[in-house]
Amino acid sequence: MLVSDDVPIEPFEGLAFPNPARVELELRQADRMLVVTGTIDARVHGQCDACLEGVDRSLHVDVSERLDPSHGRDVDPFGESNVLTGERLDVADLAQQSVLSALPMGLRCSEGCRGLCPLCGANRNTGECTCERTAS
Ligand SMILES: [Zn+2]
Ligand SMILES: [Zn+2]
Repeated sequence: MLVSDDVPIEPFEGLAFPNPARVELELRQADRMLVVTGTIDARVHGQCDACLEGVDRSLHVDVSERLDPSHGRDVDPFGESNVLTGERLDVADLAQQSVLSALPMGLRCSEGCRGLCPLCGANRNTGECTCERTAS
């Protein structure tokens, strides 16, 4: 079975998801397990941890899960298969969990972000401030 859906993602710890995530999944039965493979693409909007500028990042998640329908949410709400209720997959929940687990630890506007000056608070990416010159 193929699932192709746009799933809105709930905001999380100051991060927002302006567009619904694009979810493309293939569901297969293997033995007694439900095998879920596919991809999730989302855009995350947040603040650079260092300079506080707005950051937009695209997020690509490869999904590869083996879920056990006999341990779904109805049996074990906190188990690995908690996106299942019986044999039914909660695509929105799976997308939410997958996207959150793929988020970078600290969002940075760029690899070389120089952050804010600890003295005057100026954004060092846009130029040197005077206190940096006197300090070094
Ligand atoms: Zn930055
Ligand atoms: Zn400064």
